[in-house]
Amino acid sequence: MSSSDDFDALGPATRGVLAGRRKGWTGTPEHPGAVVNPAVWRASTHLYSDMAALRAHPANEDGRFYYGRRGGPTQWALAEALTQLEPGASGTVLYPSGVAAIAGVLLTVLRPGDVLLMTDNAYEPSRAMGRGLLRDFGVETRWFDPTDMASFDAACCERTRCVLLESPGSLTMEVQDVPALAAAAKARGIVSVLDNTWASPLGFAALAHGVDISVMSLTKHVSGHSDCMMGSASAGPEWYRKLRLRAQGLGNVVSPDDASLMLRGLRTMKVRLEAETASALAIAQWLDGRPEVARVLCPMLPGSPGHELWQRDFSGGCGLFSFVLKGGTSAARDALIDGLELFGIGYSWGGFESLATPVDPASIRTASAWPLAGMDAADQFGVRLSIGLEDTADLIADLERGLAVWAAALGEQA
Ligand SMILES: *Cc1c(COP(=O)(O)O)cnc(C)c1O
Repeated sequence: MSSSDDFDALGPATRGVLAGRRKGWTGTPEHPGAVVNPAVWRASTHLYSDMAALRAHPANEDGRFYYGRRGGPTQWALAEALTQLEPGASGTVLYPSGVAAIAGVLLTVLRPGDVLLMTDNAYEPSRAMGRGLLRDFGVETRWFDPTDMASFDAACCERTRCVLLESPGSLTMEVQDVPALAAAAKARGIVSVLDNTWASPLGFAALAHGVDISVMSLTKHVSGHSDCMMGSASAGPEWYRKLRLRAQGLGNVVSPDDASLMLRGLRTMKVRLEAETASALAIAQWLDGRPEVARVLCPMLPGSPGHELWQRDFSGGCGLFSFVLKGGTSAARDALIDGLELFGIGYSWGGFESLATPVDPASIRTASAWPLAGMDAADQFGVRLSIGLEDTADLIADLERGLAVWAAALGEQA
């Protein structure tokens, strides 16, 4: 591509194919761009041609050989590809996991004495960071109701330095008014960070909607094959450099083998997300019509919390959503999950294979109610599904089997 303006004018599918494929990284000086993908550059030692070259090593610049901890062309290509998929980003930092990315970002932005605001439906390990790591370093964390702007305002104080958003949130999937929250944060001098793992930049352009730093667990959609872990943070010029230097100081590095797997996953992410989204919506609609189901929490489904915001702000979805059973018991819900044959039981999501896990937000939330407003108090046992690439009809038949097991389990207990 001749210029970055030309590149930015391309559609997201085209950018997903071209991103990060610099000719110097996919070839040799004699044959630039000779192969499609960058090689796996396994290297701890980077060599200098002579002492003059070592003495004259350039300032701490991106994309320059220096030492293995600063990566090589495989990692640079992945970071650049993610930057090119995030409108408004000037760079992307890679971390060994999504949790490492969240920690790396918060340890860049926060100082002792600061207050961090966190949405009440944040990923539990993010919450644990507030209770543990950050508290130990003198940072106080306060949680707020994800769907209530007044709750955010009430939680703000003079010392608030940063807000961690997640939309839709983990387990209960409420979509937040991210543009309004980011604008409110900016007006108060608060740095906004979004965990954008669910949508990825293909489904929600975080920086373009006013967020300062966009974080992703690449382990989920970007890998897409349940075989690799990594995280990323993308930001504009104000934050990118600081994130990069803090990550360097913390010794964060990802392996070129893993970066190569992530690049492979990235190339098909758009079609996988589209297929999963269509299948998940069909399954959500089917569940919504079932007498055993009290509530389906799926951003793409009308009636789900924040569906209107999803329609307004998002350009795509994914296969991850939850549903809540009508009454019942925890044991019956567990029997349902055990009764599924095509869904694995496991904590991750975003892979090609479907997964199911229990949803029990009551034990986690502190600033908002569960069951959600408008729900019956007895309806509290949920199931989270990560819909993969199987045939939708097979997954529905499996869920029908699971619901029959649930009903039988309740009958036995009665
Ligand atoms: C899985 C997940 C993470 C953490 O990612 P890892 O790569 O597993 O460390 C962060 N945020 C959300 C929303 C997640 O689901």
